[in-house]
Amino acid sequence: MSTTFNVPATIVTGAGASRELAPQLARLGARRVLFVTDAFMEKSGLAARFIRELKQGGIDVVLFAGVQPDPTDENVRAGLRAYVAGKCDAIVALGGGSSIDAAKSIAILTTNAEPLSQYQGYHQVPRAGAPLVVIPTTAGTGSEVTKVAVITDTARDVKMMMLDRHLLPTVALVDYELTLSMPPALTAHVGVDTLTHGIEAYVSRKATALTDPLALACIRLVAEHLETAWREPQNHAAREGMMLAATLGGMAFANSSVALVHGMSRPIGAVFHVPHGLSNAMLLPVVTRFSLPGAESRYAVVARTMKLCDAGIADADAARALISGLERLNTSLQIPRIREAHGVEQASFEKALSKMADDALASGSPANNPVVPTAGEIIRLYQEAW
Ligand code: NAD
Repeated sequence: MSTTFNVPATIVTGAGASRELAPQLARLGARRVLFVTDAFMEKSGLAARFIRELKQGGIDVVLFAGVQPDPTDENVRAGLRAYVAGKCDAIVALGGGSSIDAAKSIAILTTNAEPLSQYQGYHQVPRAGAPLVVIPTTAGTGSEVTKVAVITDTARDVKMMMLDRHLLPTVALVDYELTLSMPPALTAHVGVDTLTHGIEAYVSRKATALTDPLALACIRLVAEHLETAWREPQNHAAREGMMLAATLGGMAFANSSVALVHGMSRPIGAVFHVPHGLSNAMLLPVVTRFSLPGAESRYAVVARTMKLCDAGIADADAARALISGLERLNTSLQIPRIREAHGVEQASFEKALSKMADDALASGSPANNPVVPTAGEIIRLYQEAW
């Protein structure tokens, strides 16, 4: 069976990669860009630094700093209005997955009709959008290199997953120095998101010969660097390792797929506004235990890659070592349980279980899992993770 592999045409990595912004936009012929970011990036002065560089390079800028964490269709509509009113011809995204996903969605709506919800799912976007240059500041979602965007549909309280090659950024500037400012909790959440990308891409039913090496490189780098980056935010080697892991993980999962952890995580984000990386982390050990029987030898490779066991031990023992390793990692990064998360009451969680299970299944991600769950099994897994 043949498989397809898509990544952005240009990916610039390494310290200072983001200094390439103005030259890359000039190469694309951009004259007036919509600069998509969030309030924190505006307040911190980082957006201003890039806007200055653009103006010095002769490129006009319309600033849109209205992206909220886990962005909504309303954020996208507001950004699109700013693009049209400003007569822009290209888009820049600065920030985490939220700013990048909002920018991707604005980009496709410059050439494809609204509403955005019609593009939910796989390969639904008819036309390429405006040129898009992205600068990730978390490590991360990998969104800088993926053909995926996740936007909350506010009318339905659903995090819509869209996957289409027209969502690929044109250029990704992957500069780990921008992640040095991440506080420990954010480092932990987005770091486990990265690890989840690596693991799910590797055990997915859609894993390919091209995605496997990327997924394993992602997993190895997270095992080597995440706890150091969490403990020592200014450790450049650890930050660089995590940034590379995020980008490699993004290339892997977008061309393989995510699976049950992501399928179950999005509904928690949509209903209870738990940050995406955090809800992944809360689910990862429980879902991995459930999924082991479907891909024991692959999970064993993950455990060996993370150096959680001796290289020579049997697959069953290595896979078990993976579960305890993931639980230990959560404890050491101070990942709370769902019941301890801000704003999640037990009664409303229980009331939402059946909608969350249905939304998880409808997203399609659970169908890629080594063990494909029923709605009832998903509900039990949510309860186990509670
Ligand atoms: P985020 O973009 O929501 O940012 C979280 C917070 O961290 C924001 O307040 C932001 O301003 C702040 N922040 C960002 N960079 C910082 C830095 N360097 N220093 C200090 N603060 C910083 O977080 P995220 O986890 O990167 O993105 C989450 C979103 O990405 C979710 O909506 C998720 O569904 C989506 N996602 C998308 C993909 C994809 O391929 N498109 C993959 C995974 C996740």
